[in-house]
Parts: sequence; C-alpha cells; structure tokens
Amino acid sequence: MRGMARKRSIHVMLVYTGGCNGCDIEVLNALFSPYYDLEQYRVMLTFNPREADILLVSGPVTKRCEPQLKAIYERIPEPKAVVAVGACAIVGGIYPNVFGELGPSDQIKAPLPNVLPVTSSAKGCAPLPEEIIKAVVKALPKIVGER
Ligand code: SF4
Repeated sequence: MRGMARKRSIHVMLVYTGGCNGCDIEVLNALFSPYYDLEQYRVMLTFNPREADILLVSGPVTKRCEPQLKAIYERIPEPKAVVAVGACAIVGGIYPNVFGELGPSDQIKAPLPNVLPVTSSAKGCAPLPEEIIKAVVKALPKIVGER
C-alpha cells in the first residue's frame, strides 16, 4: 500500500536545524498555502520520515541537531533526496560568525553536504517559494527515476 502511495505522490518532510525560521515560513506558509498549493500537484507535506521522499533541511545544522537529522534521514525509505533550503543550509549563513567570534564555530556543521548527501539547493535568505519549488523539481528525477 505504501509503495502504491509513493508512486502517485511525492511527500516532503521539513526539518529545521537552527536558523531563524524564515525558510520554514516560506515552506509551511507559502508553498502549502492556497496561493502555491503544492498539494494540487500531489506534493504532500509530512512529518513522518517513513512517509517522506524528499527531506527539506533549513538552518545551519547545529552540532546538537546533527544526530537527530541523520536519524531522520536514515528512517526515510529509498529512493530519497535531500534539498538544502536557504543560505544557512547551503553555507551556514551568518551563524558561523555569530557564534564563533574568532572564526567558524565548531557548533555549526554547515554546509549541509558535511552532514547529508544533498541533491539540490534553494538559494536565498529566505529563498523565494519559486526557488524552493525549483529545487524540489530538480530532486524529482532521483526519486522517480529509481522507483
Ligand atoms: S537562510 Fe535566512 S531565512 Fe533561512 S534560516 Fe537562514 S537566516 Fe533564516
């Protein structure tokens, strides 16, 4: 049953790893609002890793978040993809300098490829909803192609 559901829709899961929540607002309040309404294209939001196909990661990945983020990634069934959402996930944003006065902080694990295999990225701070949609579309061949 789950396999059939995965053939007919894409489930994205958002994980916040320590940013300002600006990216999360774009995902939760814009993409799944009536304006963009990704669900009409069968892109669904889930918070259950076992249902997810694409993991959206926002924030700079703090040291404290890293084990939980990896555990969530491991629970997502194959095939799966990871999308880095926003400057914090892509390069750390402002956070390495905020927390490390004399240089990059050892509390920040960004860029996200240091932690997980990233399939695509949505640039911006916060990224425009269109950028996030583009990154999700770019990740689709990895999901659909391997099914
Ligand atoms: S990229 Fe910008 S909007 Fe997104 S979490 Fe970082 S600081 Fe906030």
